[in-house]
Amino acid sequence: MKTLPSVDAVIVGGGWAGLLMAKELGARTSLNIVVLERGPSRGPSEYATDMDELDYAIRLRMMQDLSKETVTLRHDVAQRALPLRQHGSFQPGSGVGGSGEHWNAQVPRFLPDCFELLSKTTQKHGANALPEGHAVHDWGITYDELEPYYTRVDKLLGSSGKAGNIRGKLNDGGNIFEGWRSEEYPTPPTKIPYFAALFRDAAKSLGYHPYSAPSANISQAYTNSDGVSRGGCTYCGFCGRFGCMVGAKAQPSNLLLPIIQKRKNVSLRTGAWVRRVLFEATPKPVARGVTYIDASGEEILQPASLVFLASWTFSNTRLLLLSGIGEPYDSSTGRGTVGSNLTHQVSVGAATAFFDQPLNRFMGSGSAGILVSDFDRDDFDYSGLNFIRGGYFAARGYGFQPIATFGVLPNSIKATWGSEWKKAAVSYYDRTATISFAAEHLAYKTNFMDLDPVYKDASGDPLLRLTIDWRDNERKIVEFATPKAVEIARAMGAHEINPFPGLRSYDAAHYNSTHIQGGTIMGDSPEHSVVSPHLQHWQLPNLFILGGSTFPQNASANPTPTLLAFVYRTADAIVDRYLKHPGPI
Ligand SMILES: Cc1cc2nc3c(=O)[nH]c(=O)nc-3n(C[C@H](O)[C@H](O)[C@H](O)COP(=O)(O)OP(=O)(O)OC[C@H]3O[C@@H](n4cnc5c(N)ncnc54)[C@H](O)[C@@H]3O)c2cc1C
Repeated sequence: MKTLPSVDAVIVGGGWAGLLMAKELGARTSLNIVVLERGPSRGPSEYATDMDELDYAIRLRMMQDLSKETVTLRHDVAQRALPLRQHGSFQPGSGVGGSGEHWNAQVPRFLPDCFELLSKTTQKHGANALPEGHAVHDWGITYDELEPYYTRVDKLLGSSGKAGNIRGKLNDGGNIFEGWRSEEYPTPPTKIPYFAALFRDAAKSLGYHPYSAPSANISQAYTNSDGVSRGGCTYCGFCGRFGCMVGAKAQPSNLLLPIIQKRKNVSLRTGAWVRRVLFEATPKPVARGVTYIDASGEEILQPASLVFLASWTFSNTRLLLLSGIGEPYDSSTGRGTVGSNLTHQVSVGAATAFFDQPLNRFMGSGSAGILVSDFDRDDFDYSGLNFIRGGYFAARGYGFQPIATFGVLPNSIKATWGSEWKKAAVSYYDRTATISFAAEHLAYKTNFMDLDPVYKDASGDPLLRLTIDWRDNERKIVEFATPKAVEIARAMGAHEINPFPGLRSYDAAHYNSTHIQGGTIMGDSPEHSVVSPHLQHWQLPNLFILGGSTFPQNASANPTPTLLAFVYRTADAIVDRYLKHPGPI
């Protein structure tokens, strides 16, 4: 193994989390920083001509290569887990910028009570309110403490939207159920696709409070807090699973790389697949660096004084397990923390609606649309309902492409091939749209990650094994939401509606979202968490873990603004405190 000269900081993973940390530390300190990214180099110039649905959205060119590393999955401990050989319910990215290059750029915040879910829920609804077998925890931080960092994230991304609550003053047109914001969004809401406008009017007529979806595909030109300028979205319809051809979508490659590339103290190595974190337990527990395999297959040791894992939920968790750092979670005893609290945001097409008129679905962006959050809170009338928490409805104009979406028909049409099917498929192609519903996923003791005892990756290391299934709380939330979505679709003038058939077992084959959290969760004590609310490892104080792996449970909202807010907060704590007095922050 080749040993390289030591650096001040090594960051594993060149996605949103890793590159934001590299930008912050690189610009504010003279630390010598190396980012190790397993995938290829990427940049905005290559997106200008590549709007190819087959290549990007079907063959998933920007996603992790599953022939080298995948995960295995089972629903419960009695089953044998099998490897996922194709991308299904999640699609982790690879390459510079990570999934942040091909995300949809929907940027809601988490609700304030998500951060104190255990204590707030038990205070309000009693000790038995949470479902049996839950593993819900408080995060060890409040929304109020995080709010200034959320605002920094919005200014970095140039987020478009309308605030529903500025320091307690509620504003129509924004989400009046959200937590307070200190400021208005940096840019106004995006344009509203036709289908979303129908949804807005129908939702309003039913007494709900529709609002413009927060978007980091920005509505107009904006220069951010780092002096990086972008133009407004053109609603071209090639967004999620694509890099943005005009650079309107916030991506690590257009917001963070330009700053990092100017810094002589930050370097980025691609094709660097990190295998282990090295550490010493005695005399003083400390991380010593990482080992990785470079593009030529050579094994390299990169010593470092500070180690950051920013390699997303699966790799963050797997690297700790492979490196023997911390105690693996054991679901039979409840002991251990590494791998616990695996959650996956619930995301369903609650009502697929069929209209007489064309909807112009070819236009849109990954985040332009209208949301309804009237059931995404903890104070609607739960009487007679057998679940807790909730979720939000969305009508978006993603920009629909034919290979993925052609052929969705009303349940009343029985033909599955032939001329009748063809005629209906052509007619409905632009007359069909879905009201989706995204809900919280509580943590349960039975949903977790560990190392698979059978299957290995291309380098011979055990794959990560997921043990996950839905429980009644999620099923009942979806059961509750589906007729409400159908009612809105009816008020929109749909002539037929296919309701969501119901959540059964966790379905690994069909896309859900890539919002999977847990495995290295934060908390206020090492007994039940892996890192502190400053994302600092409890036992190895020079190891920091960034990203959704640190979330104790899954909110209904998409995770990226929240994980970026935590990166900002950790960077501040490192610059202001840790570097002056290394040790627990
Ligand atoms: C299709 C799609 C749409 C999405 N839309 C939204 C959205 O609208 N809103 C939202 O909030 N979120 C969305 N997400 C999720 C969002 O992209 C992620 O939350 C975010 O990118 C996570 O950032 P990250 O830096 O933590 O991880 P990633 O972006 O996954 O980056 C991690 C990086 O680490 C690298 N890596 C992993 N293992 C290793 C290793 N062993 N060695 C070296 N490098 C390694 C990976 O290659 C990757 O580049 C979407 C995701 C997908 C796939």
